[in-house]
Amino acid sequence: MLDLNQDVKYVKGVGPNRVLLLNKLGIYTLKDLITYYPREHEDRSKPNKIADLVDGQDALIEAVCVSKLNEIRTRRKNMTIYKLIVRDDTATAVLTWYNQGYLKKIFNIGEKYTFYGKVTIKDGVTQIISPTFDVEGKNKNTGKIIPIYPLTHNLSQNTIRQIIENGLNLVKNKLQETLPQYILNEYNLKEINLAINSIHFPQDFADFESARKRLVFEELLSTQLALSSLKNMNIMDNTGIKFNKEVKMSDVISELPFKLTKAQLRVLEEIDNDMEASKPMNRLLQGDVGSGKTVVAIIAAYKAVKSGYQMTIMAPTAILASQHMEEFSKILNKFGIRCELLISGITKKRKEDILNRLKEGEIDVLIGTHAILEENVVFKNLGLVVTDEQHRFGVKQRKVISEKGNNPDILVMTATPIPRTLALILYGDLDISIIDELPPNRKKIDTFAVTKGMEERVNNFIKKQIDEGRQAYIVCPLVEENEEINAKSVMELADKYKNSIFKDYKVEYMHGKMRPKEKDAIMELFKNGEIDILISTTVIEVGVNVPNASIMIVENAERFGLAQLHQLRGRVGRGEYKSYCILKYNGNSEIIRKRMKVMQETNNGFIISEKDLELRGSGEFFGTKQHGLPEFKIANLFEDMPILKLAQSAATKILDKDVKLENKENEKLKQIVKEKFGNRLEI
Ligand code: ADP
Ligand code: MG
Repeated sequence: MLDLNQDVKYVKGVGPNRVLLLNKLGIYTLKDLITYYPREHEDRSKPNKIADLVDGQDALIEAVCVSKLNEIRTRRKNMTIYKLIVRDDTATAVLTWYNQGYLKKIFNIGEKYTFYGKVTIKDGVTQIISPTFDVEGKNKNTGKIIPIYPLTHNLSQNTIRQIIENGLNLVKNKLQETLPQYILNEYNLKEINLAINSIHFPQDFADFESARKRLVFEELLSTQLALSSLKNMNIMDNTGIKFNKEVKMSDVISELPFKLTKAQLRVLEEIDNDMEASKPMNRLLQGDVGSGKTVVAIIAAYKAVKSGYQMTIMAPTAILASQHMEEFSKILNKFGIRCELLISGITKKRKEDILNRLKEGEIDVLIGTHAILEENVVFKNLGLVVTDEQHRFGVKQRKVISEKGNNPDILVMTATPIPRTLALILYGDLDISIIDELPPNRKKIDTFAVTKGMEERVNNFIKKQIDEGRQAYIVCPLVEENEEINAKSVMELADKYKNSIFKDYKVEYMHGKMRPKEKDAIMELFKNGEIDILISTTVIEVGVNVPNASIMIVENAERFGLAQLHQLRGRVGRGEYKSYCILKYNGNSEIIRKRMKVMQETNNGFIISEKDLELRGSGEFFGTKQHGLPEFKIANLFEDMPILKLAQSAATKILDKDVKLENKENEKLKQIVKEKFGNRLEI
């Protein structure tokens, strides 16, 4: 019997030293080894003529050795250069190696070899530096498509390639198929043994693509099945809280200063039904910036508290949490509901007091940041958890919060509109509600994409708006994911604006390296109209409400994801004033212009996120950070969108026939699915 979990040390060529090196790469078992996928392949299959070589190219030649290997010792210690002259029927080339003494025994004049390496052409001399090679008739290092592995530690490509080949020989034709035959047929997928072999050593690139497709498909399918199974388990779970049917959401709704949109009412009904049912709510609430998610959370909080439970809402930043605190209190205090704010930065004494009252049940609604996750935050009877997510929390983190209550209802709010396909794999364990409508009083934000030449006009426009009493945001480019450097660029820009262009105005800046207290203070000043222009990094991205701000300027807009630009734009147009978003961009590529055009043409977050995927096609969908995205070994959610769609349709088909994956044909699949979420899955 083939044991895929056997220690990698039993593979031929793996001695005690190499075991350690492999372990450093995360390879412990035979399975780890054969699923250590190459990062790319080099095509060393097609020979070139020496006369056709171009400088800088990686090329394969077939050539006859015309000189003896020439050994040159340099003055520098330990450095020996070896040169060999070879020829094909078109020209001659010089091959150069450094410190490879073993070469002395290899080459014979008049014999033919294949060489592969980087070509340099200088002063008419064609050279290949440190080529890898084979004796004629062999194709170990050349003559085929060669996998290149991600390596960091003292292992050479040749060595790992050999070890993996040895591993593949052990499992040859012995791997058990994981996917049901009908799925293989229907989606035209390679059988597992062929796939594993070809992902490393493909015959050609088409062979590689079909191997990759199969492995990506399997990975996405099993993840999707795992999430769907979690969701199905939840449907059958009747140990959740049944909130009181007599507590009517309409009692708060009628007290609101505005009329809820149809979309808000619809999602509230979905939430109300979930809350009254015995299965725990696990719901994702999606809605564009400004669509009014907070008030939905407030109404749900009312229902929970009046049914005798505590409620908590967790926000990504202290500023946002404070803003929620304001909005929650404004509406809920009237009903005698006690709200409290827990963020880092409050005094120890105050924190202790909050924690005590929370435990005693003297606080009904706890609003805060990640601080809420801390172990010492104990509720008396937590019934409803809302997370306001800037980035996605994983399944596991959600579990941490829910364990603070007795199977509480969970509502996850996100302002990043996610195309359905992605939502299914990011939030596949949740039911989904969508607010697809903005409150009626919203005015369209006019968006302009401008290049350098327009700078002065833009500045004059800002001045004009401020003179009319409005305020402006200027967002600095993301230099990189380094707050230190970003902070510096904010300060430089602020300097320039403060001292020259906008010297007659009140300009302030804010960045991620500032202490929460400082940021809050600045934000407070801005909210109160005591700052005209706020320059910042994307720290203001998340939901802060300043109705008087009417201009959003984004510097180097080409560096942002569209979804993120859309979030930023959502910071203005929150009051009665006509608002503008000005995207300053550099560069003239087709893609950049297309992206800017999307921003100008639509205000619909869903369309924007679809386009963002289409035009970027990379993991930058959620901005530069990718918190909490599931880790995939081979799949790339963005580039593999077409395969994701196939895998999702397959998941539906499989579960339609066999919801608990009990049939024999799904046996292996079930095993993989269980490995994904470990003991959480009791299917
Ligand atoms: P989101 O969190 O979805 O970005 P908010 O909940 O912050 O949006 O709502 C933005 C603003 O709109 C808030 O000031 C809120 O009070 C207001 N608002 C919410 N719903 C409505 C509505 N139906 N009509 C008018 N204003 C609304
Ligand atoms: Mg919000």
